[in-house]
Amino acid sequence: MTEQDRHQQRQQKLKDKVDARIEQAQTEKGIVIVITGNGKGKSTSGFGTVARAVGHGQKCGVAQFIKGTWECGERNLLQQHGVDFHIMATGFTWDTQDKTADTQAAQAVWQEAKAMLADPRYDMVLLDEMTYMVAYGYLDLDEVVAAIENRPTEQSVVVTGRGAHRCLLEIADTVSEVKNIKHAFDQGIKARKGVDW
Ligand code: ATP
Ligand code: MG
Repeated sequence: MTEQDRHQQRQQKLKDKVDARIEQAQTEKGIVIVITGNGKGKSTSGFGTVARAVGHGQKCGVAQFIKGTWECGERNLLQQHGVDFHIMATGFTWDTQDKTADTQAAQAVWQEAKAMLADPRYDMVLLDEMTYMVAYGYLDLDEVVAAIENRPTEQSVVVTGRGAHRCLLEIADTVSEVKNIKHAFDQGIKARKGVDW
């Protein structure tokens, strides 16, 4: 047997395995993706997935659980393509650490997010930076889990943010952890428009 024959045999075996796995994956349903970890790329990944869905003509909504007064390149672009955005416009105060005001701000966005999670018109819902809201107790974990689990069958959900709660990882179908190897900020480089927001 020549080297070429052996190579061909190996590749055929691999192909058979992959084909068998593709054959096995038959379930059609929306999925829950959690992108967590300390490295850069979580929100980028979430918005990239939304862009992918929009490219197929799907209806998407985004809830951003951060103080949303600053500019956001993804929002500028995706809003033009019919993506609904709900952001924390006011009241979210890392500085004053006023828990009542912060909870109210988080709850206001959450009500909008919950409506999208109950609406079968949405193919995809991105809950950007939501992990912190659960971690700080601004949102009720059980309520969040129930809303995600009871969403329309065809709807997919992407959750981003560091330190995702164990329960969020459990209900997710796909979980990726972005690991920090290094970050420009550590070398004193300022956050950049078009790169960081
Ligand atoms: P991105 O929005 O760029 O995908 P992210 O969502 O993974 O980043 P966040 O924790 O949401 O990261 O932080 C948002 C901001 O903090 C971005 O400007 C990002 O570049 C920056 N950032 C992310 N990871 C790090 C890090 N390990 N060290 C310093 N800054 C970071
Ligand atoms: Mg982010």
